[in-house]
Amino acid sequence: MTSPLRPAKGAAHCSACEAVCCRLMVVLQPEDQVPEHLTAYSPEGLHVMARGEDGWCVALNSVRMNCGIYETRPSVCRRFVMNGPYCKAIRADYSDPVAAGIQHDTAA
Ligand code: SF4
Repeated sequence: MTSPLRPAKGAAHCSACEAVCCRLMVVLQPEDQVPEHLTAYSPEGLHVMARGEDGWCVALNSVRMNCGIYETRPSVCRRFVMNGPYCKAIRADYSDPVAAGIQHDTAA
């Protein structure tokens, strides 16, 4: 019997993910209540969650790899479906270092 709290075998789950979705651009909506110092403006003028040099959202708790403002996270983040098609697609891209834009040091 499968517990409703446990993901199906092979399914993505936030508890075993590097918060890959928190590397995406998060466009803020008028109803979002995010502290201004955690936000930025994109080159196109969109009000977004700021990202650090590492590419992750600045609100991410990098020790626990979970959202540091979970209770007040933006509406876009609330709608993101764990193990949904978009989740699977960005995890697949992230696991491909070329697609994810991750540089590997090839010097030995
Ligand atoms: S606000 Fe939270 S859930 Fe949304 S991208 Fe940032 S860390 Fe992730």
